[in-house]
Amino acid sequence: MRLQGKIVLITGSGSGIGKSTALLFAKEGATIIVNDLDEKNGNQAVGEITSSGGEATFIHADVTDADSVKEMVQQVVGKYSRIDVLFNNAGISGIGELHEIEPDDWDRVISVNIKGVYLPSKYVLPHMMERKNGSIINMSSCIAEIGLARRASYAATKGAVLALTKSMQVDYAPYKIRVNALLPGTIFTPFVEKYLQTSYDNPEEAVEHIKTRQLSGDLGKPEDVAKAALFLASDESKFMMGSPLYMDGGVVFG
Ligand code: NAD
Repeated sequence: MRLQGKIVLITGSGSGIGKSTALLFAKEGATIIVNDLDEKNGNQAVGEITSSGGEATFIHADVTDADSVKEMVQQVVGKYSRIDVLFNNAGISGIGELHEIEPDDWDRVISVNIKGVYLPSKYVLPHMMERKNGSIINMSSCIAEIGLARRASYAATKGAVLALTKSMQVDYAPYKIRVNALLPGTIFTPFVEKYLQTSYDNPEEAVEHIKTRQLSGDLGKPEDVAKAALFLASDESKFMMGSPLYMDGGVVFG
């Protein structure tokens, strides 16, 4: 078991990639703190983990709200005395060319996708620094590296997360904390389903178009990204620091 006894906090893990990662990490021996805004999905993820013999707790918190995140981290450290792995996964999509995006929509995407990495990191880091140990995984996207149509606000946030990852790594390397970024391509999750339904007249045609730009010829699955996250969380990646890990079916280099 690659994460035996580890305490892992995964934001936005009631659905999609976060949930899949929570299930995989639990199988690898970790105790999972499932965080999400959606209580029903969060509790469902915990139920699935515990019914297959794993350990998990749900904490409702909004990653854009400082008090809520601080309280969540205090609760976890109070109960388990540490956090070994933080996966900053929660994120939302933003659609449209820049001139079409309303200021409130811009602010929400920036807030969830960037502040939502800053706040959990801010409150978890002092505990990792004290123990001189920890792995932080930040969810970026292949869109940080390639231009895709009508994704201006979303692309801006994922590029920022990649830059933030490198900067964090420099600051926290002296504390033996590793900070790496995940850059998935198009992964079939509720997030992508919603994007397809709201952005295209013919979502099935859009899926076929997306497939053509992936060398793999297909969309990825949440489990594909979960396996990459497992590598970053575990000591197997101990020589990876401040790096982007692509899990994109060949979109970036194709
Ligand atoms: P998803 O919608 O299935 O899951 C995201 C979860 O985050 C949801 O459960 C949602 O409730 C939660 N969430 C949203 N705002 C939150 C907040 N303020 N506080 C706490 N939780 C919140 O999406 P997914 O596809 O699994 O995406 C997960 C991450 O992966 C996101 O950061 C996304 O940008 C990134 N990503 C996804 C893809 C893809 O193709 N699916 C590709 C690259 C990157």
